[in-house]
Formats: sequence, C-alpha cells, structure tokens
Amino acid sequence: TARIIDGKAVAATLRAGLAERVKSLGFAPGLRVVRVGDDPASGVYVRNKDRAAQQAGFDSATIQLPEDTTEAALLAVVRQLNEDPAVDGILVQLPLPAHIRADAVIQAVDPAKDVDGFHAINAGKLAIGQPALTPCTPKGVMHLLAAAGASLRGARAVVLGRSNIVGKPMAALLLAADATVTVVHSRTQNLATECRRADILVAAVGRPELVRGDWIEEGATVIDVGINRLPNGRLVGDVAFDEAVQHAGAITPVPGGVGPMTIACLLENTLEAAIARRGA
Ligand code: NAD
Repeated sequence: TARIIDGKAVAATLRAGLAERVKSLGFAPGLRVVRVGDDPASGVYVRNKDRAAQQAGFDSATIQLPEDTTEAALLAVVRQLNEDPAVDGILVQLPLPAHIRADAVIQAVDPAKDVDGFHAINAGKLAIGQPALTPCTPKGVMHLLAAAGASLRGARAVVLGRSNIVGKPMAALLLAADATVTVVHSRTQNLATECRRADILVAAVGRPELVRGDWIEEGATVIDVGINRLPNGRLVGDVAFDEAVQHAGAITPVPGGVGPMTIACLLENTLEAAIARRGA
C-alpha cells in the first residue's frame, strides 16, 4: 500500500523555517486578511491563518467588514492597504457576497502585495515563467511532491480541474518543473483513461471520491486537493482514499494533506512579498 504524505508535518516544518527567517529579518512582515460577512466555512480558515501567522512572527490581522459592505467601500479598504507601507500581503477572503464583483476586487490589489497570487499580473508572470507570487494551494502541492521525493522532470502529470485558483496554476507549476502535463476537466471524455496515464495525479475538482482506485497507475503519486463535506458530516477528498491507497505509491490524506500546506504557503508568500518590497 501507498506511503502517506503527511501534510501536517511538512507544513509544520515549512512554518518553522519561515519563523526562523522572519526572526532574522528584524521586522515583522505584515499580512492583512479582509473578510466580508461571515461565511461559516471561511471563518475557521481565517482564524487559523491569523494564529499560524502570529506564531511564525508575522504582524497579522483580519479586517472584518459587514455583509452589506458595498463594492466601492471594499475597494477603498483595499486601496488603503495598498498604500500602507507596513502591509506586505493582502488577502481578500473568498467567497465575497454576490453584490460584489470578486474579480474587480482581486484586480485592485497591488500585485506586489497579492499573496493569493490571483491578480492577472501574477497569473501572467507564472504562465510565462517569470518570478511571481504563486497561488498558495498549488504551491503547497509542489512542496508536498518535493517532500514525497517525486521526480517531476519528464514525468506524466495529470491535473483534474482547471480553476484559476488551483487547476491552472498547478499545471503551470508542474510544467515549469519539466513534467509532461495534461489538464482534464468537466468536459473531458474518458477521465479514467487519462488519469491512468499519470505518474503524478493532482485532483482538484470538488467531487467527493470521484477518482477510483482503478484510475490510478501502480506506484503513482496522488495529491488530493478536494475538500468535500458529505451529508453525514464526514470530510472526504476527490479521491476514494481506501481504494487509491491500494494502487498509489504515495498519497495525501484528507484532511491532513494539502489543507495545512495552503496556510503555510500564504505565510511563505507574505515573507517573499516583504523581502521583495522592502529589499530586505
Ligand atoms: P472549482 O469548482 O472552481 O473548479 C473545479 C474544477 O473541476 C473545474 O475546472 C471543473 O471543470 C472540474 N470538474 C468539476 N466536475 C468535474 C467532473 N465530474 N469531472 C472532471 N472535472 C470536473 O473548484 P476549485 O476552487 O478548483 O477547488 C477544487 C477542490 O479543491 C474543492 O473541493 C475545494 O474545496 C478544494 N480546495 C482545497 C484547498 C485546500 O487548501 N486544500 C484550496 C482550494 C480548493
């Protein structure tokens, strides 16, 4: 059976390394999370971000705005943070209420402070292979692949899902690491056949246990980004773990795989942004 890739442990090591680097900086990199309304799912996530950031020596705070905040008012808050020299990283927590255009807000963040890596400037730089702030979840997946000892050069990598947040930047990072990358999505035919070709399989579709054991090539490395809550309250990934573990060479669990990496990479991005901005 497959080795389990322990995302909690890899994330803890990464955070400890970041804390060391922050200590030697002589200033606390500033992170501001802006949250509109109180979507319960993101509430836990925002609190975890603040705690992890403060433990690693960052100057972190959440700016909580009411549900009925207008788009103009939110944009004004973003502009103020863009101007604030103590702020290195700005993250606007998604989802936003329906009356606010998320893209208008994302594009208003200073690309140098865009620690989510969602601004068109950063997405474009990633696509053309220039240094950029890179979306946290796919960045975390790259750390997990490294920790698992997966060799990427020339390997066949299949990414399930093509979202701007996960699938597309994931494909760009794997391509930059010299993998042969295939992206499959909701319109792909013969999904199972495509997946069976993968040495590295990254699933980010948001469909509980879509990927079955017999979709996985013997010995493949399987990274499960999905977080799905079943009606009975259980949390599962996009991969049927109990089946996949029989075929994979290494696999991430849900929870405890990709999830913990996302916050660690947010801190890594904030540190990178601080160093680049302040020439530290
Ligand atoms: P999304 O809904 O924006 O995108 C899903 C993608 O999957 C789409 O590109 C779609 O084409 C594809 N897809 C949907 N159904 C499919 C099907 N039946 N067959 C093949 N492809 C299909 O989602 P997202 O934001 O990319 O997130 C994906 C999953 O990852 C979700 O479960 C989300 O909760 C999770 N996620 C986890 C983290 C983390 O920190 N671990 C971060 C972000 C997202």
